[in-house]
Amino acid sequence: MNTTIRSYFPILDQEINGHPLVYLDSAATSQKPIQVIEALEKYYKFNNANVHRGVHTLGNRATDDYEGAREKVRKFINAASTQEVIFTRGTTTSINTIASGYGRQNIVEGDEIVITYMEHHSNIIPWQQLAKEKGAVLKYIDLEPDGTISLDTVRKVVTPKTKIVSVMMVSNVLGTINPVKEIAKIAHGNGAIMVVDGAQGVPHMKVDVQDLDCDFLAFSGHKMCGPTGIGVLYGKKAILENMEPVEFGGEMIDFVGLYESTWKELPWKFEGGTPIIAGAVGLGAAIDFLNEIGLDTIAAHEHQMARYAMDQMSTIDGLTIYGPKDEMKRCGLVTFNLDDVHPHDVATVLDMNGIAVRAGHHCAQPLMKWLEATATARASFYMYNSEEDIDALVKGLRVAKEYFNDVF
Ligand code: PLP
Repeated sequence: MNTTIRSYFPILDQEINGHPLVYLDSAATSQKPIQVIEALEKYYKFNNANVHRGVHTLGNRATDDYEGAREKVRKFINAASTQEVIFTRGTTTSINTIASGYGRQNIVEGDEIVITYMEHHSNIIPWQQLAKEKGAVLKYIDLEPDGTISLDTVRKVVTPKTKIVSVMMVSNVLGTINPVKEIAKIAHGNGAIMVVDGAQGVPHMKVDVQDLDCDFLAFSGHKMCGPTGIGVLYGKKAILENMEPVEFGGEMIDFVGLYESTWKELPWKFEGGTPIIAGAVGLGAAIDFLNEIGLDTIAAHEHQMARYAMDQMSTIDGLTIYGPKDEMKRCGLVTFNLDDVHPHDVATVLDMNGIAVRAGHHCAQPLMKWLEATATARASFYMYNSEEDIDALVKGLRVAKEYFNDVF
């Protein structure tokens, strides 16, 4: 499947440092297929105008494109209505909107907010800030030794005092696929709402918000073949209707008086200012592309990539792999360390061989502490990667190992 799919991604057809590019950093941002690039080009060449206020033809075309993209997102995550789909800048903005909007209105002193040790900073800091402001208690769900979450632990941490549970669908470091549907049941059973950070889930597997029964879902377009600068905040209509906007200005108002104003209906009351029109158009094209390939096909391919990568990488002496060893419990990424070599040095040698991986704390410093690692390297796969890419990675790691054995 990958030769055809790979040919849709023009950026992959190049050499880096004299070697064919092996792109293994899709968890940071995915590459963009020609279909998305052309949709952006077409929008800017033929349809660009501001939305929702023009009576002219271009304004109507841009509005149709923008609202058409919202319907594509609705269908993609099976939201009940487009009123539940808000365009944002990405996962970070979406979670901040929940914390500043829903959180500020609903959290009081002594309430509990529950997250896990594996969260990305984007799903930690907004809650830390909210807890500080309101005198609420931020609690962490501990992890099992293999980097998974036990529902028994969730049941112990979530209590009737808990008002918000916020958990990532898939870990950007461990690759773990979390049981967010079951966690949502526990949250609801205690009267809390369930927030899902879908940044690493939505691009890689079929997500149905009605089946998950989450109250909010946040994700980013750029990790799912779309452009940067566009993301989604899904929220249940009943909750969003009672939630105050967090950004005020043009586009989101109904009536403006000298001292009082009223807001537009959902979803526009949460989209102050000129929206990210081209970004939404690009995201719509990305969703068409993902649907064409099929989320089930993508998920199956990634499980296979994870298995192959873990098997091949385990043949290297001194290489530690983090996260569950069962490929069905994880998505297509493998985080590792090689001997005592700093992951930045490993990544630099790999780059000299044309291989792009990520190194650092991956915006998950509490998890690094839990792993007792200051930093790690991460190879992450998407539908355009193949076993040959993993073979190149393993070869590159052997070169790095030899190089550092000689140096130290
Ligand atoms: N949550 C997770 C799990 C992520 O992996 C990321 C990005 O890597 C984010 C949140 C933040 O996404 P963004 O930077 O697109 O807002």
